[in-house]
Amino acid sequence: MKAELLKRLREANDYVSGQQLCEHLGVSRTAVWKMIHQLKGEGYEIEAVKNRGYRIREIPDVMTAEEITSRLKTTWMGRPCLYLERVDSTNNYAKKIAEEEASEGTLIIAKEQTAGRGRRGRSWTTPEDVNIMMTLLLRPKIRPEHASRLTLLMAMAVVRGIRKVTGLEAYIKWPNDVVVNGRKVCGILTEMNTEIDYINYVVIGAGINVNQQEFPKEIQDTAGSLCLVLGRRISRAELTAAVMEALEGLYEVFLRTQDLSELYQEYNTMCINCGHQVRVQEPENEYIGTAEGINEYGELIITREDGVQTLIYAGEVSVRGLYGYV
Ligand code: ATP
Repeated sequence: MKAELLKRLREANDYVSGQQLCEHLGVSRTAVWKMIHQLKGEGYEIEAVKNRGYRIREIPDVMTAEEITSRLKTTWMGRPCLYLERVDSTNNYAKKIAEEEASEGTLIIAKEQTAGRGRRGRSWTTPEDVNIMMTLLLRPKIRPEHASRLTLLMAMAVVRGIRKVTGLEAYIKWPNDVVVNGRKVCGILTEMNTEIDYINYVVIGAGINVNQQEFPKEIQDTAGSLCLVLGRRISRAELTAAVMEALEGLYEVFLRTQDLSELYQEYNTMCINCGHQVRVQEPENEYIGTAEGINEYGELIITREDGVQTLIYAGEVSVRGLYGYV
């Protein structure tokens, strides 16, 4: 209800009378007044003028379920949206509620994450209330060995979202990072629960550095944020909604084709490694080659220095630029 009120006020861009709001939402004037009061408490600047109604003046970077929902243009992805004040990891929480029958498309957002994780037991560190920490729950009817393709879809959705909301040239560092100006602004972690040939659920977590101003020493040479590049703060809710919108479209194409045959060309235009020399780091092995791009199965094609082509699959592999992170 509050989401609908926000949407109406934002889209009107002018005063909306109390009467119109009551009719639109099907509630009393007192109920409208109470919601306006709550929104002001959350940081929204809403003017109330006699005989004219309400007008939203400042749309701050509020990150609540209502703010996100009011911006969603999806039919099912990101719905419902659950907002948590504090959690160990949004992926852990999503896995827990997936066991309790939460529906496909549920989105978990946290204000503070105390034990965010990356791949291979690495950690994802982020201060509270400036960045996006989100996890999406899916129940795809695909084979378990194809689930890591979903990481690639999320990376594409984040790139599309960043480009749309900020105009910045974001790129993917295969398979699971998004970079802007050569710095990592997003990490993605996909986890799943499966039977032998059946997926019970997949959770896709994405941490996006949006309005962070400084980074801890350990990552200050590789990490960056959108705000630092753009020079202004960005609405996290707007970006979250844009990512969900992009992902809904990509996911539907993926389910129809069961592979990336209709998406890999776009992925390759977004992939910063394409056409560049990379250092491939496998758990037991490291070598240098040229990244040619991904194929329709999401595998990265590497031409080794001796001319032999190898396909590498997400999972345990990292790629690095020869002289640094990308
Ligand atoms: P890499 O990105 O190094 O190739 P990876 O894809 O396996 O490896 P992830 O699992 O995506 O890495 O993320 C974990 C790593 O990201 C950490 O080891 C740390 O170096 C870095 N990191 C942690 N927090 C942040 C952050 N907020 N912004 C950017 N980088 C971060």
